[in-house]
Amino acid sequence: MAFKNIIDLHTHTDSSFDGHHSTMFLCETACMKGIRAVAFTDHLEIDAFYRDHFDRTAIQSFFEIAKAKSAFNGKLLVCVGAELGQAVYDKPIAEKLISSMNYDIVIGSIHNLPNLDDPYFMDFSDENVDYMELLQRYFECELELAQWAKFDTLAHMTYPLRYITGKYGIPVDMSKFREIIDEILVTLIRNEKALEINTAGLRQQIGETSPNETILRRYKELGGKLITIGSDAHYAKDLGAGIEEGYELALKCGFDRIAIYQNRTPTLIPIE
Ligand SMILES: [Zn+2]
Ligand SMILES: [Zn+2]
Repeated sequence: MAFKNIIDLHTHTDSSFDGHHSTMFLCETACMKGIRAVAFTDHLEIDAFYRDHFDRTAIQSFFEIAKAKSAFNGKLLVCVGAELGQAVYDKPIAEKLISSMNYDIVIGSIHNLPNLDDPYFMDFSDENVDYMELLQRYFECELELAQWAKFDTLAHMTYPLRYITGKYGIPVDMSKFREIIDEILVTLIRNEKALEINTAGLRQQIGETSPNETILRRYKELGGKLITIGSDAHYAKDLGAGIEEGYELALKCGFDRIAIYQNRTPTLIPIE
């Protein structure tokens, strides 16, 4: 199946510490790939905001994206975004940032637990690392994020699985987290926040989206309507990657529209 409305609402430019390409180059690439709309959502890790100088990169990122948005006007719909990591660890900083910048879309995400490393850096083969406890606490942080609700879409809901199951091959019995996952989903729905289908896992060892089909189906069952989709590209070559597979999965789970955000307001676009 080929889709004409390819929308990628989670990507990183070189204003992110782990991004590799300029906003302008990414826009050129997106046009060449036939992508209709892209949101650049550079990392702003709220728990390390001043320590790691995100106060500066936030401004640089915003203006680079705004410049690209006007340069590509009529050719590519560019949404000015940000990925707020760990917003609930310092809500005043997060709230000040959101109110001072005119973002189109704000992604909410959790990478690391308070005072712990990002799971990306953790060694899950070490038996002293209790990954079930880590996951429980991770979901508790996401629940608090969903309750805070000053973002638009919840990114990569099962992020630690990229490493626990993907990198270290440890199978996780997700039925243990059914209750808290339900609570997160219900809270998102009540607060009219979207759930992101993050397709990065499709090009990593885990080989599935985050969240996966089971959670997406549950979100639909509980009354979820708003979904966004994003490749989480950190390289130009990954722009739009996995979006078509993500659309197929969305359709299979009963969603026929995908949300795009401008001025922090969703518009639902048919998946076609
Ligand atoms: Zn992230
Ligand atoms: Zn990201």
